[in-house]
Amino acid sequence: MTRLLLIGPPGAGKGTQAARLSERLAIPAVSTGDIFRDNVRGGTELGVLAKSFMDRGEYVPDSVTNDLVMDRLEAADADSGFLLDGYPRTTDQVRELDEFLAQRGESLDAVVQLTADTDETVSRLLRRAKDQGRSDDTEEVIRHRLDVYAAQTAPLIDVYADRGLVIRVDGLGSMDEVTDRIVDALERRGIGAAAL
Ligand code: ADP
Repeated sequence: MTRLLLIGPPGAGKGTQAARLSERLAIPAVSTGDIFRDNVRGGTELGVLAKSFMDRGEYVPDSVTNDLVMDRLEAADADSGFLLDGYPRTTDQVRELDEFLAQRGESLDAVVQLTADTDETVSRLLRRAKDQGRSDDTEEVIRHRLDVYAAQTAPLIDVYADRGLVIRVDGLGSMDEVTDRIVDALERRGIGAAAL
C-alpha cells in the first residue's frame, strides 16, 4: 500500500512522472487535470464548468474538485494505494483529503515535490502549447497559473514538510533521470521497494 502525492509548479513534469511512477509502483495515478480535460473533451456538465476556470488559469472550485477526487479514491483500484497528481492544491483540499483518509484509518506515505525554475517551466509549457494546443498554455495564462501556484499551492509544501513527508526531487534533466531520482528517493524511505 503506497499513498503518494506529487506536487510542483505547472510545467515541472508531474503528469509525465505520475504515469511512469504509477507503472513502476503498480498504483493508479489520479490526475485532476486529466480528469477535467477528459470532461472538457466529452462535453460533460463538469467539463463546461471546469473549462471556464482552466482557460483563465484559475483553479476549479474546491467543492467540485473535492467531490470528484473522493469519488475516484473510493474506486476499488485505489484500495492498493494511489498517486495523486495535481491534488491537493489548496488548504481546503488538504483538509478534505486528510478527513477522507482519517475516516479510513489511512495516511499518506510521502509527498514528492518536483522542483523546476520558472524560466524552464515557462519554456516547457510554451513548447507544449505548440505541440498539444492546450488552451491554458498561452503565455499570459501560464504566468497567471504560476502566480496562482505560488499563492495557493506552494504553501502546502510547508504543511506536509511539518509532517516529515516531503521528498524534494530536482525536476531538471531527462525524463528517465528524473524518474530514477524519484524511485531512488522513495526506496531510501522504504517506499515501493516490493513492487519494483
Ligand atoms: P499543470 O500542472 O500544468 O498546472 P494540470 O493538468 O495539473 O496542469 O491542471 C490544469 C488545470 O486544471 C489547472 O490550472 C486548474 O484549472 C485545474 N485543476 C487541476 N487540478 C486542480 C485542483 N486540485 N483544484 C482546482 N483546480 C484544478
